[in-house]
Amino acid sequence: MIQRNPGFSNISAGYLFPEIAKRRREYAASHPGAEIISLGIGNTTEPIPQYITEGMLAEVKRLSTREGYSGYGDEQGLTSLREKISEVFYNGKVSPEEIFISDGAKCDIGRIQLLFGSGVSVAVQDPAYPVYVDGSVITGAAGGMKSGGACGYDGITYMPCTAENGFFPDLSVIPENSLIYFCSPNNPTGAAATKKELEILVDVAKQKGGIIIFDAAYSAFIRDESIPKSIMEIEGAKSCAIEINSFSKPAGFTGIRLGWSVVSKELLYADGSPVIADWNRIMTTVFNGASNIAQYGGLACLDPEGLREMRQMTDYYLENARLIRDVLLGSNFAPLNLNIYGGVNAPYLWVSFPGFKSWQVFDLILDKCHIITTPGSGFGPAGEGFIRFSSFGHREDMQRAAERLAGLKL
Ligand code: PLP
Repeated sequence: MIQRNPGFSNISAGYLFPEIAKRRREYAASHPGAEIISLGIGNTTEPIPQYITEGMLAEVKRLSTREGYSGYGDEQGLTSLREKISEVFYNGKVSPEEIFISDGAKCDIGRIQLLFGSGVSVAVQDPAYPVYVDGSVITGAAGGMKSGGACGYDGITYMPCTAENGFFPDLSVIPENSLIYFCSPNNPTGAAATKKELEILVDVAKQKGGIIIFDAAYSAFIRDESIPKSIMEIEGAKSCAIEINSFSKPAGFTGIRLGWSVVSKELLYADGSPVIADWNRIMTTVFNGASNIAQYGGLACLDPEGLREMRQMTDYYLENARLIRDVLLGSNFAPLNLNIYGGVNAPYLWVSFPGFKSWQVFDLILDKCHIITTPGSGFGPAGEGFIRFSSFGHREDMQRAAERLAGLKL
């Protein structure tokens, strides 16, 4: 019989979101009248704006005509969209041929792991978006869980991002020749790396012969103009970084599916051959192009009216974050000495409750306020003691959640 991919026996069961769902179910069953509000997940809630919708509708109509119909397109995406992304997001610094349109950032992360195979060593921020680690375990780049009760997987170097280091990790722990996953603005901490920090990251990657996988899925939430929206803004990044990004959060495309990656011609393997050639091979072999409807939506996103709509959308979620942040700063929380991070250049608030474990706080907030949050410990050991509040929600739900939190008696 066929052997199971050992990566699947190495990977631990998805724990965080199933456990949250289980506790929610149990709580709802024992408190039938409780109206539970979720500030727990990163899924978008607001409808796709008008101009962007019209862009997709026009393509749907074209597809229904003989003249306008198109079937498979170039696997790398519409040339017009690649050109527009190059112009709007990269000021021409990245050429359209170095941009690959995809069905989203998560899918690109999975395909990138295929690109480097099982032999590569991996460094990740801790806490981190779970796909970097779990995907590495499935592809065999990481081994089984560490023995002796230690947290994490063999073969993965965890880089703690803590309040003490300003959520920018000690990069000296990165082994030579590693893939370095780096997410900014960060899920879950909400931290956005400064230009100086990204310069250090690029320097270290170059010194150590590593490649940075820069996840910029939340770049549209950056409001501080001094913070880079792309690693490609950093001198030298083209030869040591791959960037991935997505229309999911700013345009509400979580279900439509549209993203892109940037792999520069300057990015080379140890033998001097270009990574872009293999990336092109992967994208043309195991991917068959993003939906043409989604791509026309993407083109609309990048027109002045679409950009305005995306700005409004991200402003809306940032305002939600502000509502929750303000209430956590209120006097009823003062005895807890909370430390509140994020929510300014990112849609997540990352809040530490000194003296409490993440799951204790989760249970407390569920019990007293009927609000679902995400325990920080689920994103990695350095997340223990933290709770992530997501700002993806309808304003009226956020307001009700804020009122409940403001009324919380501790
Ligand atoms: N990267 C990060 C850090 C995310 O938090 C998410 C989704 O929550 C994604 C990527 C997935 O993006 P997409 O919808 O484009 O697959």
